[in-house]
Amino acid sequence: MNDTTLLAARAFHSRLTDLLGVEFASLGAFLEALAEFDRRKLFRDLGHANLFAYLHEGLRLSRSAAHHRRAAAWLVQKFPEVLEPIRDGKLCFTTAAVLASVMTEENSREVLPRFYGLSKLEALELAAELKPRNVVPARTVVTRVEAAAPVESVRPVGQVDRVDPPAPAPGPGTDAPRVRPGESWATRTVVEPMTATESRMHLTVSREFLALLKKARAGESHRNPGASDEEVLTEALELLIEKQRKRKACVPARVKREVLTRDEGKCQWKLVDGGICGATVRLQIDHMVPRGKGGPSTVENCRALCQAHNLESARRAFGDAHMDLFTRGNKAGDAPVAREAVAGYGPPLPLTHRASFLVNPFTSPG
Ligand SMILES: [Zn+2]
Repeated sequence: MNDTTLLAARAFHSRLTDLLGVEFASLGAFLEALAEFDRRKLFRDLGHANLFAYLHEGLRLSRSAAHHRRAAAWLVQKFPEVLEPIRDGKLCFTTAAVLASVMTEENSREVLPRFYGLSKLEALELAAELKPRNVVPARTVVTRVEAAAPVESVRPVGQVDRVDPPAPAPGPGTDAPRVRPGESWATRTVVEPMTATESRMHLTVSREFLALLKKARAGESHRNPGASDEEVLTEALELLIEKQRKRKACVPARVKREVLTRDEGKCQWKLVDGGICGATVRLQIDHMVPRGKGGPSTVENCRALCQAHNLESARRAFGDAHMDLFTRGNKAGDAPVAREAVAGYGPPLPLTHRASFLVNPFTSPG
């Protein structure tokens, strides 16, 4: 980086900071006006039955965008004090909508600041802690995902070995997350906090996964009769983590030492100008032919890379889409989300089913 690019970066930063301030201020102004519009029922004069219909049809917002704005407008009507943190950027539409479900006259003072700066998932977790669901359905639900046109359809079937017949119509009590047209079930694992200690997790799994789960549960039937799916999966994940720990430790200390000595304790990533990265912190041992593709843990096949370049190397070997499964949403503070079996970075199996489990974020491996 030279002085010119540093100046440009600082100018951009200053401009982006200003624009963000404008965005927060207009969000506040929008919600203030929308709350007044709703209070006076002016949507009726424009031919809409309710505020949601106005937002969705009149302003052409998506259903979820309309839902969040309506909830936030109601919150503003009831608690005008939320406008200030919205204008400051401490609350966004989605967290304001979650806040609306738990804020009361009695708790407003204490609850409002606890939502500042939270992500949607963090806000949902806090809401579940403040107002736990009365009945937490401790069950596994399996839904067949239609290959051609994914539709929302859920029917509780008890244990997963009883897969339901083709798609019943969604009815009351449907609690699976909605999948929008064009969006795939396959890519989404959804965590829905239910209480302070329990969440429901929705993930898409293959027929093979269901068969494996059934087999593992049957294998546990003597040692732990009636083990829940969560217990079986928790044990499986603990085994996987142990296996990963052993695999991580499988570069012999002698090889590690020789590689670090040869590479002079510097990241060996080749840069476009012909040099190397040269970073000396957070060094990791990278397999040039990846272990997942049979590369040995030898001095010849190993090199020192910094953490960022080790990840970049894996991205090049396995592709962004695949590596995103392990890196996206894994930042500190996120609830633990099991994405898929990671052994050996193997290719994902064909996905045909969606299963929902009740999991306990404090006992599940994360
Ligand atoms: Zn590097």
